[in-house]
This record gives sequence, C-alpha cells and structure tokens, in this order.
Amino acid sequence: MKNYRIAAIPGDGIGKEVVAAGTEVLDVLAKRDGGFTMSFDHFDWGSDYYKKHGVMMPADGRDHIKDHDAIYFGAVGAPDVPDHVTLWGLRLAICQPFDQYANVRPTRILPGIESPLRNVKQTELDWVIVRENSEGEYAGQGGRSHVGLPEEVATEVSIFTRAGVTRIMRFAFDLARSRPRKKLTVVTKSNAQRNGMVMWDEIAKEVAAEYPDVEWDKMLVDAMTMRMTLRPETLDTIVATNLHADILSDLAAALAGSLGIAPTANLNPEGKFPSMFEPIHGSAFDITGQGIANPVATFWSAVMMLDHLGEKTASERLMRAVERVTANPDLHTPDLGGTATTRQVTDAVIAAIQGDNK
Ligand code: NAD
Ligand code: MN
Repeated sequence: MKNYRIAAIPGDGIGKEVVAAGTEVLDVLAKRDGGFTMSFDHFDWGSDYYKKHGVMMPADGRDHIKDHDAIYFGAVGAPDVPDHVTLWGLRLAICQPFDQYANVRPTRILPGIESPLRNVKQTELDWVIVRENSEGEYAGQGGRSHVGLPEEVATEVSIFTRAGVTRIMRFAFDLARSRPRKKLTVVTKSNAQRNGMVMWDEIAKEVAAEYPDVEWDKMLVDAMTMRMTLRPETLDTIVATNLHADILSDLAAALAGSLGIAPTANLNPEGKFPSMFEPIHGSAFDITGQGIANPVATFWSAVMMLDHLGEKTASERLMRAVERVTANPDLHTPDLGGTATTRQVTDAVIAAIQGDNK
C-alpha cells in the first residue's frame, strides 16, 4: 500500500488551528479509502521558532522536507515580527528554492455560500487563477540607500525571464485546455510597465499559437478587477504575474464568499521538488486562539494535494464532504456570517466523509 510522507508546517496563528484540522481529516480519509496511508512529519517553524532561534526555519530546513511527497502549509505572520521577515524567512524560502513556479488558485462559489455580488449564480463564477510564483515583482531584488534620510531611495526590481514567462504561460494554456470552456485570460499591465509586461504579451501570443483549441484574451490588471466584479461569467482560467495574481486572488476569494475558503497549490510541475498546499489566507491574529477559523480553505487545499498525488477517489470524496458541509448555514464560521466553530466544521466534514457512499 502506498504511504505518502507529508511535511506539515502549520506556521503561525490560525495556521496551527487549520492545519491540525486538515491533518485530522486526512487521517480519517486515508482510513476510509483504504488504498493509501499518510504519515505527517510536523515542523514547528515560524514566528515562535524565530523568537527563539533568530531564524524562521533552520539553515538546513529544506533538506528535511525535500524528499517528502508534499508539503501541507498553514500561514505565517505574527504581530511582533515584521511581515517581510516571516514571509521571506519561511514561505518564500520554500517556494522559491523548490521552484514551485506555478501557483494555482481555484475559485468558485461553494454550495450554501453567498457571494457579495448581487444576482451572480453559482455557475457564473468558476475560475482558476494561475500565479507566476518564482520571479516578477517578488524576485527579491532591489535595495535602499540613505535609509531614513530625506534623500532615501528604495528600489523593488521586477525580473521577468523569457524562460520563466514561457513556462508559466504553457502551464496556464495546458490548464485552460483541461477545463470544459478552454478559455484563458492573460493579465498584464503592458501600457504602463513597458518592459516585462510587453514581453508577457509577446510570449502569450507565441505560446497561444501552440494551443489553437484554447480561446484566449488579454486584460490590463486594473480593468480586470472590474471585469471580475461586473462580468464574472466571462472568465475561466486566468494567468497573471506574482504581484497581480496575488491581489486578484484575494479579490476572487472575497467574491466567492470569504478568504477563509480559498485554497492554493504551489506546484513544481516537473516533480523535482515537493509541491506545497496551503490556504491563501494569512495567520489572522485578530481571531487566533478563538477556535473560529474557517478550516474550509485548508480542507480544499488538501483536495488539491490529493489530486496532485493522484488520489482521485479520495480527493473527490473530500470535496463532496466539504460541499455538503458548506451547504448547511448552521455549519458556517463567523467569516461566512455563521456561528460555527472550527471544531464543529471539522467534525461535520469527518462525518460527511464517513457517511459518503460513493
Ligand atoms: P489574513 O488573511 O491573516 O486575515 C485577513 C482577514 O481575514 C482577517 O480579518 C482574518 O480574521 C480573516 N480570515 C483570514 N483567514 C480566515 C479564516 N480561515 N477563517 C476566518 N477568517 C479568516 O491577512 P492579514 O490580516 O493581512 O495578515 C495577517 C498576517 O498574516 C500578517 O502577518 C501577514 O503578513 C500574514 N499573511 C501570511 C500569508 C501566508 O502565510 N501565506 C498570507 C497573507 C497574510
Ligand atoms: Mn496574498
């Protein structure tokens, strides 16, 4: 029987609460399906680790997780540690060296959940956002001089490479092709950003020629926010840069009901390194410790992880269980306007898995 070794990195704040819920559900699921087992190695990296050791993860941290089948991640961020330290010290310190260049963010309105958009039907908002996850605006290049002085200058350099853009574009066209509508929207800002973004447009056109069966169009990122809110049904698969897609996917999550349900996969499609699965939300210290974090995003991330591992029966069973639970407003956490707790939602998903006969 196949055993998957999963590196669990809960991180900070509600990351710990939702990853605990996620591993519990995955244990039940593996037992229910019988065809595989999952063992979790837990790593206590994050802001508490940083306060003790001065680093978010040990220097050889990646060596401990490079041979795992996947990484199940919570979130980073603490009120008393600068955000750029937590992000660069852990999440990006895994994503970038492991070349998880394709960040995939499905968005749809789950049963029972209301979109803040008036009159939108459940079927009219069903997107996958592909975020370039290895370069662009988050290449980490730039610097500051004359810090604190009136003449201070700070630069944040975006780096786009032909190889990097081409591979994410192919990934996005492949994904679009695999979906029923075979439709891709390429987002840029090539009117104002006249180097990297113009190259994106050129590469999109070149790659599109390899995919005559995929219908595609281009949008500027500012206009894209309008189209997402006013004509959501005209969109399907979307590809954008690291920064643009970061912003668009929080908007997408809100339009689908809550940040608390939105999952993501950081994929190294070639499989040379493990891929990482996580909710898109942060550590939410405003609600940490209250037991009310919505675990749905983390469950849906587990669905993506199972898909990635090739465990289709289990992934479909988990998604059905999650949708059964969201369909019941009594099982909505406060971010969805309800009063349910993380524990109640987790128990309900477990019960739905056990009661699922398919
Ligand atoms: P956040 O995503 O943590 O929270 C934004 C709002 O959404 C908060 O009101 C929060 O309570 C709510 N929310 C988020 N997830 C929820 C869930 N599962 N259930 C219920 N409500 C939920 O973003 P923020 O407040 O901007 O940042 C808090 C910290 O998280 C910061 O330190 C930030 O740097 C970090 N952060 C980390 C990641 C990551 O690890 N991937 C992503 C975003 C933010
Ligand atoms: Mn983000």
